[in-house]
Amino acid sequence: MKLIDVINKSKTPYISFEILPPLKGQSIDKLFSILDVLMQFSPPFINVTYHRSEFVYKEKAGGIFEKVAVRKRPGTVGICSAIMHRYQTDSVAHIICGGFSKQETEDALIDLDFLGVKNILALRGDPAKNEKHFEPEIDGHSYAIDLVKQIVNMNKGIYLDEDLKNAINTDFCIGVAGYPEKHYEAANYQSDLRFLKAKVDAGADYIVTQMFFDNQKYFKFVDDCRAIGINIPIIPGIKTITNKKQIYSIPKIFHIDIPDDLYKDIFNSKDDKTVCEIGCDWSIEQSKELIKYGVPCLHYYTMSNPEPIVKIIRKVF
Ligand code: FAD
Repeated sequence: MKLIDVINKSKTPYISFEILPPLKGQSIDKLFSILDVLMQFSPPFINVTYHRSEFVYKEKAGGIFEKVAVRKRPGTVGICSAIMHRYQTDSVAHIICGGFSKQETEDALIDLDFLGVKNILALRGDPAKNEKHFEPEIDGHSYAIDLVKQIVNMNKGIYLDEDLKNAINTDFCIGVAGYPEKHYEAANYQSDLRFLKAKVDAGADYIVTQMFFDNQKYFKFVDDCRAIGINIPIIPGIKTITNKKQIYSIPKIFHIDIPDDLYKDIFNSKDDKTVCEIGCDWSIEQSKELIKYGVPCLHYYTMSNPEPIVKIIRKVF
């Protein structure tokens, strides 16, 4: 089913979980053991993240170094399909521009369509490790909007091969990312909003936000989106802090603020068990307030760690 149809039909907010593919060399059973726990809440969707290859330099004979692409996690196509078949639930495939040519993207989308995966979160992706700035592939997309346009074209039966006759129309539901605290590369908050509006005008059906810990930032973001004519659902992304290191790593990696009250409580905690309890309580309060506000769905970044999520969902829903 398409995510936007579930949102439109649903009278109460639903739960969506985001999971990471297992590391290469690990069995999918590890992922299934996480999902077996989360499935007790009957989420209509499981989001599967995509992780681009990293480049490493390997020494060859004669002291020459060769740049080699190393893929640490498998792609989303197989995992989305495996989840759908095992749990009879829908999945959302994260597709990124980074590391892909347009043709490779088309091939991945065709595979997803064949397998019945109807939902795509269309993203640009971050710069590859070792890169200062995002570099598209030769004949790849530079921004998420270009990926949105490619998917919209396929939904109209327009593929890259212009000579294709009677090509079928895919029927993908398209999500895009939004940033209540601004994307870190954007010149300013307003320009970031305008680029978000462009993704929506290009055909996105819904937005999922970057994690935030202060609901006021989400409320303002929604108001600002509505003010410039973004009228599609805006799904809040919730992440739970589970260890002390995250009060330093989250702002650095995701370029978001941790509210001072939360920061101080975690900073003064004696161990990570206490930190996790504080983090869960914060997510519970955040979730309750967001539901009261009327959000269509709560998107939990599980980081493949189901225990805190179970605790939160039991208290919230
Ligand atoms: P874009 O919308 O392309 O925006 C990127 C930047 O460019 C922004 O600063 C924007 O303001 C600016 N911009 C946009 N269009 C233009 C233009 N035409 N000209 C100039 N500037 C422009 N990453 C992964 O690798 N895998 C994942 O699975 C993944 N899942 C995610 C899920 C969610 C819910 C979110 C919020 C993020 C996720 N990311 C993932 C991270 C995401 O790929 C990065 O945040 C990335 O840096 C930006 O992606 P985007 O799709 O928002 O990019």
